[in-house]
Amino acid sequence: MKIYNFSAGPAILPQSVIQKAAEAVTNYQGTGLSILEVSHRGSEFVSDMDKAISLVRELLNLPEGYEVMFLTGGASSQFFMAPMNLLNDNESAGYLDTGTWSSKAIKEAKAYGNIKVLASSKDSTYNHIPKGYDIPSDLKYLHLTSNNTIYGTQIHNLPNTSVPVICDMSSDIFSRPIDVSKYDIIYAGAQKNMGPAGTTLVIVKKSILGHVKRQLPSMLDYQTHIDNVSMFNTPPVFPVYVSMLTMQWIKDNGGLKGMAKRNDEKANALYTEIDRNPLFKGHAAVEDRSKMNVTFTLTDESKSDEFTKIYNSLNISGIEGHRSVGGYRASIYNAMDMEGINVLISAMQKLEKEA
Ligand code: PMP
Repeated sequence: MKIYNFSAGPAILPQSVIQKAAEAVTNYQGTGLSILEVSHRGSEFVSDMDKAISLVRELLNLPEGYEVMFLTGGASSQFFMAPMNLLNDNESAGYLDTGTWSSKAIKEAKAYGNIKVLASSKDSTYNHIPKGYDIPSDLKYLHLTSNNTIYGTQIHNLPNTSVPVICDMSSDIFSRPIDVSKYDIIYAGAQKNMGPAGTTLVIVKKSILGHVKRQLPSMLDYQTHIDNVSMFNTPPVFPVYVSMLTMQWIKDNGGLKGMAKRNDEKANALYTEIDRNPLFKGHAAVEDRSKMNVTFTLTDESKSDEFTKIYNSLNISGIEGHRSVGGYRASIYNAMDMEGINVLISAMQKLEKEA
């Protein structure tokens, strides 16, 4: 029975990736051993880690001077690790507050320097991306969250600035081509477009490291992980392996241009139905709508039980909205296909017909 998985994360992965991951659990690369029981220093996994790093370089077309790491501790650990590695106590960094995850990043960064919140959309339940705010040129960096998983907003145009940009891309990495040269750090938890939970991708422009005065614990120093090719300690072997398989799937399916085309088609179809169907309305401002997390509510709350009955009967899973927004959130990451979108649209139309 096919389930249409709209979960926000951990989230849908390509079926072919899940199959290959399952094979590796019983017999990894023909070793007769499970990937769950082999050494990370064995030639098989060392080669898969190298493959994962090269796929990141290839898919994102990484310029010279950038390093790739697979770390642990989730994207949440990058909320403190990035400022710890970049910001001296007397220096300032700017943050754009576009949701729960940005505000968590702001809270953690405050321990390491002078943190300025340049703009916030908190007062309107984070339903848009602030624009036109001032970016002081003396900032050490500007921190952005490219896609706000909970609220369904996405930055479609980077602000124009010469200040180095750090970006949390947890929920839209690999969904569209990006110009990496515009960023100094990109980080992303794996568990949306990249793989299962358990590893965090970090891409760093090498020239920004080595300028902080504080003593960094080895595990929290980016340089440690760069010097040891993400093998300073035992890496999350299985999540890195499945991330490698997922990136290979992205490559085989048209790369980031191919993903962007599919994602545009899916998001357009779903937003068109939200705007057409009088029973639904979108949460996010139209120009800031996310192509990954589509948030919407019922115009008449009394229909919610009926809608739940309909979508459950169609095997639609994981569309309940985050508790801070309510309503519904359809997460339509790379691995969600048009068939799933059409099933969700048919559920919305069925509710309309029965109303
Ligand atoms: N940033 C964003 C945009 C997220 O969506 C999430 C988690 N959903 C996080 C950060 C936190 O990630 P983690 O749970 O890997 O720490």
